[in-house]
Amino acid sequence: MTASPATSAREATPSGAPARRAARPCLVCGARGARPLHGPRSPLVRCSCGLVYVDPLPTPEEVAARENEAFHGGLVDETAEMFSAYYRNFPDDPVVRGFRATVARLKEMTGGGKLIDVGIGTGLLLHLAREAEFTPLGCEISPGAAEKAREEFGVEVEVGDFLVADVGEAPAAITMADVVEHTADPRRFLMRAAELLRPGGALFVAVPNHRSTLFRTADVLARIPGLSSLAGRLYVPNHYWYFTPATLVRLIESVGLRVVLVRGESPYLGRYAFSFPVRAGLEALIALGKVAGLEARVEVYAVKPA
Ligand SMILES: [Zn+2]
Repeated sequence: MTASPATSAREATPSGAPARRAARPCLVCGARGARPLHGPRSPLVRCSCGLVYVDPLPTPEEVAARENEAFHGGLVDETAEMFSAYYRNFPDDPVVRGFRATVARLKEMTGGGKLIDVGIGTGLLLHLAREAEFTPLGCEISPGAAEKAREEFGVEVEVGDFLVADVGEAPAAITMADVVEHTADPRRFLMRAAELLRPGGALFVAVPNHRSTLFRTADVLARIPGLSSLAGRLYVPNHYWYFTPATLVRLIESVGLRVVLVRGESPYLGRYAFSFPVRAGLEALIALGKVAGLEARVEVYAVKPA
């Protein structure tokens, strides 16, 4: 008997019970054989390259429904403030400073021009891009979010799916903050960005970092009865991909872009509602992540070869 218990649970049916079917191949490296992340009943699997993904992927209808739920439902409680006059009320907030630094880096890399922000959130990044003398254009699937951004910031937003939207002339920069992990096929989003960018143009992608103290802790908690719901704060229903810096870089390079900067970023907890012990714990993990190079977010800047 050479098979590990996990392997036999997946491939053999000693009791006649249906085996967990093999996970679909990895998006990043193409390998088969991704293994359950939190035990055999978890919808999450991890490939040996480091990519964690939801398997099977929900249907496109379900993906749209979850996205809608996230925007109009539970998550909005925590981010409601962000969606109402966030910039006016908190001009010095770390989130504002972070976006401003991103825009400044893109300006330095490209010299400016048109900037397309995919998945606009509040519209804040578009506003800051305009302050930095980019010509900003949002591309947003939610008409409600587009309308709010127009009202709050007076920015131009095209409503539609980035994969097919008409965005006009080739942009100097494209930004995707907290976007690709929500999509059914992140590579198609990156390919589309690579196609649209002008030669020498730059792409910015930011996602939660799975190679972080926060996710490492969540993976331990997920296996402890009674504490697994805490892991659900990070493994949310509308994220289908959990990248490490290495897997994100590999995917971006696979569409022909050249990665020029990878950096970690720590989240700002100010706007989230947590009980005291949870907040203290998270702050300690975030501080540890900064020291250990295991920060909770990863940002990648890549350029289209001229
Ligand atoms: Zn892989």
